[in-house]
Amino acid sequence: MTNKLVTKTLIKSCVNCQKRLYLEISSPELKIQKEDPFLSHLASEGYKFEDIVISLYSDAQTQKTFTSDGVLIRTDILTNDALIEVKSSTSIRDEDILDIAIQVCILKEIGEDPGVYKLAFVDNTYSLSSKLDAKKFVRVEDVTEQVEEILPKVQGLITRCRKTAKAKRSPKKESGRHCLACPFIDSCSPKLLDYSVLNLRRGGKKIDELLYNGINYLKDIPSSTKLTSYQQLQVKTEKEGKSFADVDKVAATLNTLKYPIYYLDFEAAPILIPRYKDCSPYEQVTFQVSIHIQESPGEELKHIEFLHDKDTDPRYELALFLNKNVGEAGSVVVYHASYERGRLQEIANKYPKFANKMDSIIGRLWDLETIFTKGYYLSSQFEGSTSIKKVLPVLAPKLSYKDLNISNGADAFISYLQMIDDTTTSRKKREIYNSLLQYCKMDTYAMYAIVEALREVAHD
Ligand code: SF4
Repeated sequence: MTNKLVTKTLIKSCVNCQKRLYLEISSPELKIQKEDPFLSHLASEGYKFEDIVISLYSDAQTQKTFTSDGVLIRTDILTNDALIEVKSSTSIRDEDILDIAIQVCILKEIGEDPGVYKLAFVDNTYSLSSKLDAKKFVRVEDVTEQVEEILPKVQGLITRCRKTAKAKRSPKKESGRHCLACPFIDSCSPKLLDYSVLNLRRGGKKIDELLYNGINYLKDIPSSTKLTSYQQLQVKTEKEGKSFADVDKVAATLNTLKYPIYYLDFEAAPILIPRYKDCSPYEQVTFQVSIHIQESPGEELKHIEFLHDKDTDPRYELALFLNKNVGEAGSVVVYHASYERGRLQEIANKYPKFANKMDSIIGRLWDLETIFTKGYYLSSQFEGSTSIKKVLPVLAPKLSYKDLNISNGADAFISYLQMIDDTTTSRKKREIYNSLLQYCKMDTYAMYAIVEALREVAHD
C-alpha cells in the first residue's frame, strides 16, 4: 500500500485496533489530533527528565534509530551492554515493558540486541536537599525478565502491524472503549462523538457489549439491560429529556451545611523536577487559594484570595493565609474533596505548627460533588460527568468559564509555571496573574451558585 515506516509509537497505539494503523498509513489526512496543553506539558517535562538521565551515561549512544522490514525504532540510551528506556513515570508499567519489547524485537532482527534491558524512571522517594542529585532522582531497574516474557506476543503484534501496513483493505474492527482516544474517531465512529453509551458512568465492559450489539445511544438501551442505579438514572434523564432531583436527599444534604460557610478551592502544580528544598518529584505545590465566605443565611458573600507569584515554595505563606482567614467553625465547601484534603494534609505534614488548623479544616470539608456522584441530582447535560464544569451550566447557566483565559486546573498550573519563569516578560506575568485570580475566584463562586440553585430545587 505504501512505503511509510511503522514506528514504535504507532505499534503501541494500535495494540487494540489494527484499523487505526491502517488509517494512519492510508488516510493520515482524516486524523484529528485534539490539542491538549496538559499532554504537551507532560511531554516537555519528559524531555527534561530524559536529559537528566542521559547526563548519567556520558559514554553511551543516545537517540539512535534502527529500521527492520518497514519498522522504525529509536532507542533512548544504548550502552555496550544494555538498552535503557527512559520514562518520566514513578513505577514500572506494562506499557513501558511493551515499549522496550518492541525495540528488542527489532534489535534482535538486525543482530544488535545487547541482551540486557533496563528502565530509567523517576524515584519518587527522592527529596531535594540543595542541588539536584541525578543519581538519586533517577531509578534504574533491570527489566530483562519481564521483557523476555512478552517477546513472543510482541513479535506477533509486530508481524500483524507489518501485514496491516501492506494491506489493500482496512481490517474490520467494532467500535468500543478503545475508540475514546483515537484521532480517527470523527471519521470512523462519528456516532460516538454525541452523547453515546461511551458516557455511561463507570460503564466498563458493558459499553463494549452495548456497542457490539449496535446500541450507540443511552436512550436506546433496552430496559432488560443490567445497570447500576446511577446508570439507570442516566438513561431515564436521557429518555425523558429533563433533569432528575431527589428533593428529600438534596434538602437533607444541604441541611448539614453549617455557617459560616467557606467555599474553598486550591490550585497546585505537580512539579516533576523538584525545585524547592525538601520537595519530591511530582509533589503537588499548592500556589493559590480562593475563598468565598458567607457568615449567615442571606448575608452578602465576602471574597479573599492568595496567589504566590515568585519562584519559591509558596506553601508556608499559603498556610499562614489559611491559618489567619479560616475560622474554627463552619463548613468548608469544596468540589471533589480528596484533592483539597490531600493538599491540606501535605501542608500539615510540612509545617507541624499549622497541623491543628489544617486538621480542623479537613474535619469540616463538605464535598459538593457528592450530591451529583450519589445521583441526588442529575441531568443528561452532565453527559455522565460530575465535574463542576458540566454541572455549572445546568444549575447556574448565567455563569460560565468560557470567557476566561484559564478555564481548567491543568491550564492553571501550566500558566503558573510560565508566570514564575525568569524568561517571561513582566507584562505576560501580570496577565497570567490576573487570569489565575479570575479562574480560581470563579471556581469558588460557582460552588456558591450551585448550592443556591440546589436550595431552590430543595424548596420546590
Ligand atoms: S475509531 Fe475506533 S474502530 Fe475506528 S480506528 Fe479508531 S479505535 Fe479503531
